[in-house]
Amino acid sequence: MPFNCRPPLTLFRIQLPFACFICRQPFNQPVVTRCGHYFCEDCAIAHHKKDIRCFICKEPTLGIFNTATKILKRQAKIAKQKEQADEEEEEPEVKPDKSRNSSLDELGLETGEDAPTIVV
Ligand SMILES: [Zn+2]
Ligand SMILES: [Zn+2]
Repeated sequence: MPFNCRPPLTLFRIQLPFACFICRQPFNQPVVTRCGHYFCEDCAIAHHKKDIRCFICKEPTLGIFNTATKILKRQAKIAKQKEQADEEEEEPEVKPDKSRNSSLDELGLETGEDAPTIVV
């Protein structure tokens, strides 16, 4: 299961695989076979030299490997989302922490003193 090694990516659950079945690495120049399975270009060609059938489903690939534009698009999209997430995380971290801490401390003290008098 390629999903296990990269926990953050499980957020983007799309049907496309995240890693090459042959080398178990993120796709390097992804290609798609006739039968709809994805591999790195190098892996697909190297495997084809040993075995003319698809590594996954054993259908003959006939040496036909098309550029996997879907994977390339998704890789670009994830790279963008990562950049945005990094930027968003850095800024608000300082502000909410300060205001939250001081107001919570005040509330805690007040309710702590009031509560016993009501019960008695
Ligand atoms: Zn590969
Ligand atoms: Zn296949």
